[in-house]
Amino acid sequence: MAGMGSDTFNLFCEYLDLPGLHKKTFLKNADRFYAKYEATRKQIFSRAVAIARAENAREANIELTDDTILDICVSYDGTWMKRGYTSKIGIGCVIDVVTGFVLDAELLSTYCHTCETTGAWIKSNVPVAGRYEAWYNQHKSDCCVNFVGTSGHMEVAAAELLWARSIDDHRLRYTTMLSDGDAKAFTAAQKLELYPMAKEECVNHVAKRLGTSLRNLVTNCSKRNIQLGGRGTGRLTRETMDKLQTYYDRAIRKSNTVEEMKAAIMATVNHCYSTDETPRHDFCPEGPDSWCFFKAAEAKGKAPGRHATNMKTKLDYKLLNEHLQPIYDRLSDDELLSRCLRHATQNANESLHSVIWSKCSKTKFASAKKVRFSMLLAIAEYNHGPQGSSVLKNLFGEPSGVSATRLSQRRTSRRLAASRQYESDKITHRRAARKMALKRRQRELEELEGGPSYSAGAF
Ligand SMILES: [Zn+2]
Ligand SMILES: [Zn+2]
Repeated sequence: MAGMGSDTFNLFCEYLDLPGLHKKTFLKNADRFYAKYEATRKQIFSRAVAIARAENAREANIELTDDTILDICVSYDGTWMKRGYTSKIGIGCVIDVVTGFVLDAELLSTYCHTCETTGAWIKSNVPVAGRYEAWYNQHKSDCCVNFVGTSGHMEVAAAELLWARSIDDHRLRYTTMLSDGDAKAFTAAQKLELYPMAKEECVNHVAKRLGTSLRNLVTNCSKRNIQLGGRGTGRLTRETMDKLQTYYDRAIRKSNTVEEMKAAIMATVNHCYSTDETPRHDFCPEGPDSWCFFKAAEAKGKAPGRHATNMKTKLDYKLLNEHLQPIYDRLSDDELLSRCLRHATQNANESLHSVIWSKCSKTKFASAKKVRFSMLLAIAEYNHGPQGSSVLKNLFGEPSGVSATRLSQRRTSRRLAASRQYESDKITHRRAARKMALKRRQRELEELEGGPSYSAGAF
């Protein structure tokens, strides 16, 4: 249950001078857990769904009965056991945006250890006709393979399964899907024609799109012998591109309507184009507390200082405007921005993924059964903290003793403290500054080594 295999478990016992378990006994015990997957799944998700239903109904001012079918906004994302496109195991998770609870998850696997070992052996060593088929029929109900296709398609296939059972299992309609730029999962769920659906964007992913577009622009222009980057004031260096991405991100997060967002985005770039001769602060926020030195001075009735000394990021209008305008037009499109109005992110999904894979190492081999179970454990802990693991212990008849409660409570309070810190604004700013400093250091090192070692546009 702690994400250990039999070898690690016995090593652990060895250090503590405990008796340990024979591999067969260990696996038998593990199978006892895996057999209760369905019951466990129902118990874990029904608790989360009950809370999410109550909260969502309260927010929408709907009187809730057991039969009420609620429309909610969920964040959907996939995660893979292995990076790249070779993973044999993939997971799709649905998280309620209002409460942050994981409502459902599905694991897809293209690999079965028994098929690859016993099955393959019978196929090639027992030439009796029908022998393999007979073996497979017996094994079928226990087989780990539940998906045939590429690992990239797993996220899409999992979405289809999860959406298809949303009403029957949870009396919920996931009518709004928050996801990253890639709309494949959304399109697939929509094609099921279960109910009308809308898509919303993760602000982090949208902001990253600006960074990627800028980096691609510099690369493409340099192929045509137009140098936008390089040394000199007002040029599009990698540091400037990072800053523009941060400004764009902030412009979206701090605005509450599409119009506000548009103005704030235009301000970020026009402010940087400004010079003493041609100030372009029309979109910058008014008032003495404005981040724009020009508007702040104006509001205080003072003369603004020189642009050269007051501007943190400078852009050369003549050189850049014709190239940047199309990018900014595309990324301040009404429809795109209207999908960002909730300022939602997929941070919850990302943090859930890390809990899942902490219980099940990405680098060591693990069977689909083990990963599927680890996924449930991770979700129980993610949703309910120490109570989550006690649900499981009761289910398996394990005593929930004083030490177990104390240890799991300590673990959860550490995690909660960490996530609270993560959310605090000050920390976010400090983290952004640290990230910038790290990136700067990286660039300095790269320049010393003679250029970046990875392609621009990758992140
Ligand atoms: Zn199999
Ligand atoms: Zn300004």
